[in-house]
Amino acid sequence: MIRLTTSARSYDKRVYVFPGHYTIPENEFRKDVFGRCVIYTANRSKRPKQFVTPKTKKKILPRDCIFCPGNEDKTPPEIYRVEENHKWIIRVIPNKYYGVHPLYPKAYGWHEVIIETPDHYKTFSDISKHHAVQLFKVFRKRIKENMKDKKIKSVLIFKNEGITAGASLEHTHWQLVSSNKKFPESKKYIKYFRKEPENKLEKLLSFEKERMVFETKNTIVFCPYVSKFNFEVWAVPKKFHPRLDEMNDTVLNDLAMSVHKTIILLDKMLNYPSYNIVILTSPKGSSLQTHVQIYPRIAKWAGFEFGTGCAFNSVLPEVAVKEYKKVL
Ligand SMILES: [Zn+2]
Repeated sequence: MIRLTTSARSYDKRVYVFPGHYTIPENEFRKDVFGRCVIYTANRSKRPKQFVTPKTKKKILPRDCIFCPGNEDKTPPEIYRVEENHKWIIRVIPNKYYGVHPLYPKAYGWHEVIIETPDHYKTFSDISKHHAVQLFKVFRKRIKENMKDKKIKSVLIFKNEGITAGASLEHTHWQLVSSNKKFPESKKYIKYFRKEPENKLEKLLSFEKERMVFETKNTIVFCPYVSKFNFEVWAVPKKFHPRLDEMNDTVLNDLAMSVHKTIILLDKMLNYPSYNIVILTSPKGSSLQTHVQIYPRIAKWAGFEFGTGCAFNSVLPEVAVKEYKKVL
């Protein structure tokens, strides 16, 4: 809090204070080791309840949904599936509306869709822990397959849940995009982890630990010091793992369960908000720490964010972490 004296208020007319208020919450600029920055607007802060909107109801029926069982022939030919009791529980298909394609020399890559459940009405937090682990094993397998293509340099796996997060189909799913380019976003992480990555990771995690939501044997989940979105949260392995496709079962299972648990908390806290999940893993030839970033899409990015690369955020991560812990 900034406490304003009467003389300060009368001296500088630019300091706007509501009549009768003698204090204003203090806003704060923060920059992290990756060069990401944020301005916390404490003077706009709200309680989680004020962010809650009614859960969006599905408009399309399973019979009309191309991702539902029975409509398999309406999707491009299947790449891979996981079955249980002779029925698929996870399906990988090429994206019908690809952004990259091996036949595009100027936008080379593969664009896949991972349908994580046959159940039209489930979201990621509704699937079981065991199912989440199987899903991450599919991610590992698909990254490995994509990396076998000599031209491919980078692979990104992501999820857009809800209309505000950019989901175009209601049936919950993930996407994989691989490219012959190095994604610009990964460069800031590669730069940080270039020298002594194990030490750098240890330094980062010990710094972020004060904003920890929970930890498991192999991962830590925290609201980062620089959170560019309200209630942003990251899941990071405790040891340095540059490539998800080379991660062992123990760490991968832990990471999958941590992300799954985090989304359960988020859905409980904010009543199934829209969100994006991105899984960052190293491109060929460079190293960054494989980790998962979760962006609840409550506040909209606008001119300031596009013009500066910095974000306004009305929720301090120190406040966000307390709210996550309340539903833990
Ligand atoms: Zn469906």
